[in-house]
Amino acid sequence: MTNTKKETRTVNIDIRKDLFGANENAAALNAETFKKHGIVAIDIMGSVGTGKTQLIETLCDHLRDKYRILMLAGDLATTIDADRVASHGVDTVQINTGTACHLDARMVRVALQNVNLADYQVIFIENVGNLICPAGYSLGVDRKLVVVSITEGPYMIRKHPLTIKHADMVIINKIDLVEALEFDIDALEADIREVDAAIPVLRVSSKTGEGIDQLIKVLNL
Ligand code: MG
Ligand code: ZN
Repeated sequence: MTNTKKETRTVNIDIRKDLFGANENAAALNAETFKKHGIVAIDIMGSVGTGKTQLIETLCDHLRDKYRILMLAGDLATTIDADRVASHGVDTVQINTGTACHLDARMVRVALQNVNLADYQVIFIENVGNLICPAGYSLGVDRKLVVVSITEGPYMIRKHPLTIKHADMVIINKIDLVEALEFDIDALEADIREVDAAIPVLRVSSKTGEGIDQLIKVLNL
């Protein structure tokens, strides 16, 4: 009996590609849904503690008489951020991701199935606090904002250039603290310009409201 040596076959599965492919499909469906209902959807990304929630609270205070607003909050656990925004008279849905460190398009899709979309004109989506992977997952939104703040130290941009590349706009938040922290805000903006020379960069304080009117203008709201 001959003993023919056999070759092992290898199937390479690109999990990253498959995962991202499925996400892109769901993002396209979300985009279609937003368009159908005439909704402007905005994804707000940024690390923990950059003031994403406070920025949304301030935007809601400025815009809630003009638009019917929904806020989706992404967090591993708790409803803290959604509750804060809800206290401003805005409808909210909390998405608890469990172990996931970012929102993906399917999570947003499930959240959207729990509301009557005809009721809303603007949706703010606060992504999970993390400057790394949220940028890689499209949600199907019209605009992606990155919030950085001067309390994170001077190297946030240099360490996370990819997030800036995926964003449409960068918000430098907490400018009310510039003097107290002796922070070189021009150097931070130069780091952003290094990654993307054309991206709009706005300096705001969601606490004092400085720069919010300009942000609303740039957002076309
Ligand atoms: Mg928050
Ligand atoms: Zn993640």
